[in-house]
Amino acid sequence: MAVPLLDVNAQNHPLAAELTAAFQQVLGHGRFIMGPEIERFEAQVADFLGVKHAIGVSSGTDALLLAFMALDLGPGDEVLCPAFTFFATAGTIARTGATPVFVDVHEGSFNLDVEAARKKITPRTRAIVPVHLFGQFADLDAVESLAAEHGLHVVEDGAQSMGAAQNGRMFGARSDFATYSYFPSKNLGGLGDSGLVATNDDSLASRARDLRVHGMNPKYYHHAIGGNFRMDTLQAALLSVKFAHYAAYTTARQVNAAYYSEQLGQLPGVADGSRLILPAAQPGNTHIWNQFTLRVPGACRRDALRQWLNARQIGCEIYYPLTMDQQPCFQNLPAASSNDCPVAHRLAAEAISIPVFPELSLEQAAEVIAAIKAFLEAGE
Ligand SMILES: *Cc1c(COP(=O)(O)O)cnc(C)c1O
Repeated sequence: MAVPLLDVNAQNHPLAAELTAAFQQVLGHGRFIMGPEIERFEAQVADFLGVKHAIGVSSGTDALLLAFMALDLGPGDEVLCPAFTFFATAGTIARTGATPVFVDVHEGSFNLDVEAARKKITPRTRAIVPVHLFGQFADLDAVESLAAEHGLHVVEDGAQSMGAAQNGRMFGARSDFATYSYFPSKNLGGLGDSGLVATNDDSLASRARDLRVHGMNPKYYHHAIGGNFRMDTLQAALLSVKFAHYAAYTTARQVNAAYYSEQLGQLPGVADGSRLILPAAQPGNTHIWNQFTLRVPGACRRDALRQWLNARQIGCEIYYPLTMDQQPCFQNLPAASSNDCPVAHRLAAEAISIPVFPELSLEQAAEVIAAIKAFLEAGE
């Protein structure tokens, strides 16, 4: 039985009637740009996250760019972000003209090592961007005390973690913004691109709303240079349909992750981490498992497992094969250094993600486990 890494149809097709009704509603009123469904979706997310302002935007990438623009980051500024993340985190920092400064990560969480970040602070450091990778939070308490000490802005990249929590909270007390993505592979997967920016700060929220439409307020009076970062009305309408099921999707991911942990934990060389290292929620974290990411230690063993799973038609993916400081486009950065993020480099060589999507059946999960068991038993 083939097992896909993600099956968007298994999630969306059962909602076909509701999604079609939402489409017909938007088709009927015709307000395709900034229609009423956007405010409704924004209110749902603001309520869910417990934040004052939620601003729907065109993508998770644009959410980051908009947040950085609202904070006026630009040339001469340095912004700390993890070396191990999806490219958009660093790419958007660079697009403002600021310099991304790559920081090593913790191997247990794949997330920012705040002590390593502290060592990279200079008089030009203006912001820190913790990424909540794979579905769990970076250490927000540590980020917040570092930010308080040095007067840094905090933007949380929550693209993979909307609804994850740390010690019961979903949004940092010192965070200027948190950003989210509804790319189809994210936990709340849209039917196309979109994202959202959240903040508790009234003036940052109003600035972000203006920048979302070319810095325009009122119409055709441009006080700042923004962009077109709008969420489509149609996307908001479709997302509201899916949002009603979000808690169930999260629970299903958590059930799948628990099953993997229990079953894979019994395989040889897993308990002691010598042959396979399982992901785990860090203390205080509610993990929502955007990815279930194994580490396969030993030269080339991760790539061997990838080939092994591919040959058995079991979906898997390498998130991420290169760290930010290793990306070709960042080789001319002054702060890019190939040897001061050793943990990130090791994770990039060891990490492999297996299917954990909500609709994964027990039989499919068992198939994935059996294939990994066979891999280990074959002495790989
Ligand atoms: C997906 C993702 C983004 C970008 O989101 P898009 O909606 O694809 O633009 C940013 N950061 C992280 C960590 C992501 O996983």
